[in-house]
Amino acid sequence: MAVPISQAWTVATYVLGQKLKGRKRFPLVTMLEPLFRCNLACAGCGKIQYPAHILKQELTPEECFRAVEESGTPMVSIPGGEPLLHPQIDQIVAGLVERKKYVYMCTNALLLKEKLHLFKPSKYLSFSVHLDGQREHHDFSVCREGGYDIALDGIKAAIAAGFRVTTNTTLFDGADPNSVRAFFDELMEVGVEGMMVAPGYTYEKAPDQRHFLGRARSRRLFRSILSNRKRSWKFNASPMYMEFLMGKREFTCTPWGMPAYSVFGWQKPCYLLQDGYADTFQELIDTTDWSNYGTESGNPKCANCMVHSGYEASGVYYTFGSFRGLIDTAIAVFFDAYQDKGALDLLNEPVKPVHSFNPLIQIETKVNVVETQGTTA
Ligand code: SF4
Repeated sequence: MAVPISQAWTVATYVLGQKLKGRKRFPLVTMLEPLFRCNLACAGCGKIQYPAHILKQELTPEECFRAVEESGTPMVSIPGGEPLLHPQIDQIVAGLVERKKYVYMCTNALLLKEKLHLFKPSKYLSFSVHLDGQREHHDFSVCREGGYDIALDGIKAAIAAGFRVTTNTTLFDGADPNSVRAFFDELMEVGVEGMMVAPGYTYEKAPDQRHFLGRARSRRLFRSILSNRKRSWKFNASPMYMEFLMGKREFTCTPWGMPAYSVFGWQKPCYLLQDGYADTFQELIDTTDWSNYGTESGNPKCANCMVHSGYEASGVYYTFGSFRGLIDTAIAVFFDAYQDKGALDLLNEPVKPVHSFNPLIQIETKVNVVETQGTTA
């Protein structure tokens, strides 16, 4: 199991407690976005296209603590933007750890090595490093030559210093399943605790609109990657969510499962869409028309979505929702090889990775220039 027992126990007792209280809609992970600035400008990102005055704004530690206490989730994910650019990120993380929240600090790791001294290793803290595949694929995806090597250096330094390190990988059309599987081997050799993979969401604001995956193609890709697993691979995701990605089971979206809080407030309805904002978490729950969201709603913005922030909570809630869910999850944990001859055949199909016929367009962001001069933007 890639997640420590204490964390799995905390999550299990939290979900069961919420169910016993009869709460219909409750969150699992707070997606805390303390800023939108980044030192990368990835082609598939929909988060950094804000005007400069928004990119300059950031949440204070107190605002972060208030939001997390309001939602009451046992886990907090800190995406962005690049959280390591926040001048008080050490205080934010320390305050959440003090509150016994399991924190996943998402980072592209370009600054991880030099800012590691700001943090203390803890079972409550994991660096979740964004790596989109092997060197060539990752550098292409984040539009930065050398990005993979810097991130890997950061990962090694964090592991050597005693930190928990996980990875999160977003896959787009043209991903080479054999390369992704080799990438899993590389991450396990380095000593990463667990890996998370998900298809990219079709952000309307993303600069590259051509390489997002449709649902059928996503299932085919994930079946080829996640079947016939090696015993050494460890994943940091609900086994039920991974079966959903492989096309083995259907879930409806749980948009309130991973609510997002940023300088705008609580985002309606989910981490990906922006159909307004609420001042409080309760207002988000009470004033969002949830029937408008999820693939089955017919909302075109949800049509191809299979992302982690919408469906991971669905997998976790399924696990703890019935005896059947517990049994299915136990089977998935103990018989996780997923031997599948058809999936092996898929690995033999020719693929043309996007980076093999497109040039890497290196994008230097202003904030990156400032950071490399050793100051905070
Ligand atoms: S299907 Fe995706 S985009 Fe739609 S509400 Fe769920 S998470 Fe958001």
